[in-house]
Amino acid sequence: MSRAPGARSRRLWRRAVRALAGGVDSPVRSFRAVGGTPVFFARGRGAYLEDVDRRRYLDLVGSWGANLLGHAPPAVVRAVREAAGEGLSYGAPNAREHELAERIRARVPRAERVRFVSSGTEAVMSAVRLARGATGRSKVVKFEGGYHGHADGLLARAGSGVAALALPDSAGVPAAVAGETFVVPYNSPQALAELFERRGEEIAAVVVEPVAANMGLVLPRPGFLPALSRTAHRHGALVIADEVVTGFRLRHGTVHETLGLEADLVTLGKAIGGGMPVAAYAGRKSLMRQLAPLGPVYQAGTLAGNPLGMAAGLAVLRSLSAGTYARLERTSGELAEALRAGAEQARLEPIALPRIGSMLGVFFGRGPVTDAAGAARADRRRYARFFHAALDRGVYLPPSPLETAFVSAATTRSDVARAAPALQRAFRAAGGRGRA
Ligand SMILES: *Cc1c(COP(=O)(O)O)cnc(C)c1O
Repeated sequence: MSRAPGARSRRLWRRAVRALAGGVDSPVRSFRAVGGTPVFFARGRGAYLEDVDRRRYLDLVGSWGANLLGHAPPAVVRAVREAAGEGLSYGAPNAREHELAERIRARVPRAERVRFVSSGTEAVMSAVRLARGATGRSKVVKFEGGYHGHADGLLARAGSGVAALALPDSAGVPAAVAGETFVVPYNSPQALAELFERRGEEIAAVVVEPVAANMGLVLPRPGFLPALSRTAHRHGALVIADEVVTGFRLRHGTVHETLGLEADLVTLGKAIGGGMPVAAYAGRKSLMRQLAPLGPVYQAGTLAGNPLGMAAGLAVLRSLSAGTYARLERTSGELAEALRAGAEQARLEPIALPRIGSMLGVFFGRGPVTDAAGAARADRRRYARFFHAALDRGVYLPPSPLETAFVSAATTRSDVARAAPALQRAFRAAGGRGRA
């Protein structure tokens, strides 16, 4: 019998579904993938969330990775309050924009010039436009299971046959638009090479999550990313490293360089806004010069570089150090160990528990999972039972088996130790039949 959510969440949900489309502003929040009623949160502090029924949860979603430092980190809240007191938006230059860009530049070698936008969707969409403008080509390659926001051309899935033209992945996306996108399997340098052999001169860019976090967590195989950029560059296409999730999450900067991916453009989001709507795309000077006002590629934003978002981003980046990532690595390693031990005690083999830094995945099925087809084979019902049993015991996991769990820097070893028994019980519930 499920204890969460409580009476207040249920009441709010009944109202929400009458006022909001589907009750939510982003589909995964609806719990459709795991069943049940979403929990409404009242506040967050550090590693924990508190719901409207005053239940506390260790938060392993962290606003989908945006809350790198946990909830309401005092320095970030202070910075946003101070900025808000000075004015919410000017629609004109403010110094925080270039200060945040300077901090990003200092950490991301490719980011000679930065452009801020308000969402990861916009960042990738704009980077793709820039790549098309700069190359004079129209086709884009993405990987099956990769998520790059909801821009039309990137909501495409693989058509029949490897490296076929993509089909729309959403109603409302014209086939002609999806047809500008090629979709190939993640971790398959051969499929990409074959595509480039046939259609190379048409391709403006390859967009890739260096670590795929939106089909569950799927790590790049050694050699995949270096081969990707070699292939793209040999054919005159650009490489867009979509680091909306991984940037400043896995290390103090971006991760593609360390994985051998030669990127021309980089997109950032989530962590660099510390919970505010901030994202960016960046690249070498000669490319970024193609953007208006200097060049012919148009892109703009009323609230882009908004002072509150910039203040939050600056406060986050100022507080980062090597120690932040060492701490994240330690607590995340302990969480991974707690998961492994819990699954083992529940005799839940086969199970795949991928991890890189503070990103963790749970696939109920045989691992390692290396692409979208593998992720799709995982047992979603088991995940749903696991999710609900953990929720009932005060651990908030991603409400979908095709998402990634995130540990925040506010999480301590004792938080992990306290959550371990709950996770163990959740694995036992996952193994049983019926709802937990
Ligand atoms: C979240 C995400 C996006 C989209 O960002 P939004 O801010 O939700 O528009 C793009 N790319 C990746 C890799 C993401 O995880």
